[in-house]
Amino acid sequence: MEYKYQGVIFSKIDVGEVDRIYSIYTLEAGIIRVLAKGVRKPNAKLAGNLEPITYLEIFVVKNKGMGKIIGAIPLNNFSQIKENIVSLENIFYVFNIFNQLITQEEQDAQVFNFLIVFLISLDELTLSGKNEIKITIFTVGFLFKLLSALGYELQMQECVNCLQKITPRENYFNSAKGGIICPKCSAREIRKIKINDETIKLIRIFLNNKIENFGKLKVEPNILNNLKIILNDYLHWINN
Ligand SMILES: [Zn+2]
Repeated sequence: MEYKYQGVIFSKIDVGEVDRIYSIYTLEAGIIRVLAKGVRKPNAKLAGNLEPITYLEIFVVKNKGMGKIIGAIPLNNFSQIKENIVSLENIFYVFNIFNQLITQEEQDAQVFNFLIVFLISLDELTLSGKNEIKITIFTVGFLFKLLSALGYELQMQECVNCLQKITPRENYFNSAKGGIICPKCSAREIRKIKINDETIKLIRIFLNNKIENFGKLKVEPNILNNLKIILNDYLHWINN
């Protein structure tokens, strides 16, 4: 059987003498692993199109076992991202989170489209020479959006305990409860992280706006730090 997929290459590993196995996140089937025969031979035609961080159409033949790539048409190779070390670090961090959160062969068109918009916008942001902080804010915002699309939506308006509306003051964040704890309830809570008013505002912006607009946000380094602490704690909780 022959299959056609739209996908983004996450990673590649060498196998055998001249072959490679690719991990590809696809629109049609989530993460798939496919083999490319002879792709490490000199002059192998397919090799140039099969680099990580490439958005492409691939043609796969599959009978029993792992599918084999027989053709590929690149749609976008995100050349700016590939030349920028900060963008590269952020992308591989994102791919790693996809690998942790998405089970193989699980299709999700919304998440796929989020990823494509993220890559296109990050490529443009990198081209326009945006600094490290901007690129990182953009990535962090995308990850909050991604978690929400995967069903890990945070409660950012009311206290997760008493359901009182959250107002600017000494608020805390709790990953297990998936949101903010008000000052009153926080006295009884052991596991909590301080969350700044500015951080709360930003997460609300991430959840209610389009990914392509995140690059315009201005964020102070201490707020970015607070955002990263919260994101990492939440990711850690989800993965355990
Ligand atoms: Zn409360």
